[in-house]
Amino acid sequence: MGGHSLTDAGPLVILGATGSIGRQAIEVAERLGRQVVALGARQGSDGLVSLAERFPEARVVAAAPTNQEHAMLRDRLGSRYARGPEELEELARTAAVVVNGIVGSAGLPASVAALESGNRLALANKESLVAGGPVVLAAAERGGGEIVPVDSEHSALFQCLQGEDLSSVTRLILTASGGPFRDRADLSDVTLGEALAHPTWNMGPRITIDSSTLMNKAFEVIEAHLLFGISYDAIDVVVHPQSIVHSMVEFADGSTKAHVGEPDMRVPIQYAITYPDRAPGGERFDWSDRTLTFEKPDFDRFPLLGLGYDAGRAGGSAPATMNAADEIAVQAFIDGRISYSMIATIVEMSLERMGVQAIDTVADVLAIDTESRNVAAEIAGSC
Ligand code: MG
Repeated sequence: MGGHSLTDAGPLVILGATGSIGRQAIEVAERLGRQVVALGARQGSDGLVSLAERFPEARVVAAAPTNQEHAMLRDRLGSRYARGPEELEELARTAAVVVNGIVGSAGLPASVAALESGNRLALANKESLVAGGPVVLAAAERGGGEIVPVDSEHSALFQCLQGEDLSSVTRLILTASGGPFRDRADLSDVTLGEALAHPTWNMGPRITIDSSTLMNKAFEVIEAHLLFGISYDAIDVVVHPQSIVHSMVEFADGSTKAHVGEPDMRVPIQYAITYPDRAPGGERFDWSDRTLTFEKPDFDRFPLLGLGYDAGRAGGSAPATMNAADEIAVQAFIDGRISYSMIATIVEMSLERMGVQAIDTVADVLAIDTESRNVAAEIAGSC
């Protein structure tokens, strides 16, 4: 959690600019009057072009545009445009605060580049820590960069931990909405439409389904362990359907600090940019007539939650395998090739088949990712 110098109205690089986090980060940046010096995205969509027009000074990178998109971007933007994944990494090396909202393992090299360059990484890319945990932490160590989490739960924990000594922490408590199937006994006949209807957060299809299986919460447990160095035995999940308490930290003296607010990703995004300062922003919370409820998660109906703890404790390549296998399984479910309950089966079988290996470099992570996908696809194809 480094020094104050990084925050002094430094410029912003926004990666995954056309996605949900990226767009909200741009909104926050404009509200704060912060300079956006670069925009990066995977594709070269029209969305990227219109963002580029909104920020006429910004460098623009598309990591993997189609030839047609590439030609259009080059025509419209000239020399401030570049393409390729290396160019995306280059952007991550250039500014003080890098918002990484890229979806998928394509976000990992940019996270490593930002941290190696001593930048602040406002991290929303799940794969960076889940798949590349040891590599990302080593990059921060090497380059002196700092991670400020953007995910609502980790931002909540990060904020609750400000001014605290980690040795006095007895428990991290991550809240989970419980997803749409919190009260549903039989999950074997869940349809795609049902799995895509998340009660409180509006997100992309994979993370919405991952929220319904609690896979997403398992990933967040792993991320919390890596971010704060707290043992898995001291990280709990509690189901809180209202999504108002974003997470909690319990201390040795019996005190618990909670971070509370309306579900609004712009709040954690803004905090990651302004930390350790705060700026005006989100909605005031209305405390009248609010009922907040908490219950234990059901590890039997949501086996991916327990598998996530197991993979986290196993360490090394296991979380990367879990992430890759889950992505393949979720896609197979979206495509109608497997049933909802097979998602967990495929993840479990992939973890068994792949075993645990050490990961030291981005290349190691990407190799495990590819191999795990192949294994998961093979299992999915045979069921
Ligand atoms: Mg979350």
